[in-house]
Amino acid sequence: MTKKLRFNSSTIHGGQEEEKGYGAVMPPIYQTSTYAQKSPGKHRGYEYGRTHNPTRSALERSISALENGKYGLAFASGLAAMDAIIKMFDPNDEIISVNDLYGGSFRLFTQIFKKYGIKIHFVNMQDSESVEALITKKTKLIWVETPTNPMMNVVDIKAISAIGNAHKIVVAVDNTFASPYLQQPLELGASIVMHSATKYLAGHSDTVLGLVAVNDAALFEKLAFIQNSSGAVPGPMDCFLTLRGIKTLHIRMQRHSENGSVIAKFLKDNSKIEKVYWPGFSDHPNHDIAKIQMKSFGGMISFVPKGGDKAEAFKIIENLKIFTLAESLGGVESLAGHPASMTHASIPKEIREKSGVVEGLIRLSVGIEDEQDLIEDLDQAINLI
Ligand SMILES: *Cc1c(COP(=O)(O)O)cnc(C)c1O
Repeated sequence: MTKKLRFNSSTIHGGQEEEKGYGAVMPPIYQTSTYAQKSPGKHRGYEYGRTHNPTRSALERSISALENGKYGLAFASGLAAMDAIIKMFDPNDEIISVNDLYGGSFRLFTQIFKKYGIKIHFVNMQDSESVEALITKKTKLIWVETPTNPMMNVVDIKAISAIGNAHKIVVAVDNTFASPYLQQPLELGASIVMHSATKYLAGHSDTVLGLVAVNDAALFEKLAFIQNSSGAVPGPMDCFLTLRGIKTLHIRMQRHSENGSVIAKFLKDNSKIEKVYWPGFSDHPNHDIAKIQMKSFGGMISFVPKGGDKAEAFKIIENLKIFTLAESLGGVESLAGHPASMTHASIPKEIREKSGVVEGLIRLSVGIEDEQDLIEDLDQAINLI
């Protein structure tokens, strides 16, 4: 397909090729570890399953199409993708990272890469200038997450990318919360976009997978070398499930955002709720930037009930009937979580609370059920406190 497709067609056809065997409409699950060669080195582009797999290639072309990149790479998980990105750098290199980030990403930086001599500076990136102040000759990577998990802080991707590009520093954006439907970091000047496809991209809570898209050939070569050398690749079945999920990304995200908007407003108007974090509110910090860089505001919401401690939060989440209490996000079903004891438990309490992840904070991943059922569910649980 040569014509450049609009996003809502790209989810279905982006980067896809006609299947050569039988004209299968969906790429087959090539469940194979190796490929026949006619003579040593003479093969049809595929030699060994860690290096390449046709189902994986179809997914890698899909993510590059969705993010308007030239190249895509798939990994065994979101963190495996991040791990590969950081492995491009050397001991004594420095990384500047957003301070309010996914707990697993924080753990990877501080408990794995720090001991290999990579220095990480955490900073509140809501103010882009605070990044500039930390740049030294050794800075090699700026790590952005926006909206952040779970505080929904909005980082100006265009401004940070301009700073990174001016200093020849790689800017990588974890685009998991927004998905390429809501926001496309490469278009805003970032060099790398990374996803936990486990969440919105696959969208059905049935697989764990990571994706990366880039425009620069040299960056792609480095990452592909690490992908093959370190070997954290996804299996073909997981690639297939992610591809299938991506085909409905646009309609799911549209509904996640519509439901998210209704629920955020319901919570904000509720007298038993102290604080609601959702980038769509005009008084949310950097709302003006969110309005520019995001198509709409998504279905991720955090809130703190009045009284604001663990007891109230637990009472609400334990009594929700449609929202399932679980880790993760981005699936068709609504989930509720308690960041302080679940996703963010690996971040020390003082650091956690400084960024707003207090004991009373509840995070919702609003699904695509009927909005009225979701509101009634929240209402009955909140009324118990
Ligand atoms: C889940 C998540 C990750 C990690 O992805 P896995 O697929 O679980 O390895 C990274 N960043 C964000 C924002 C996430 O939500």
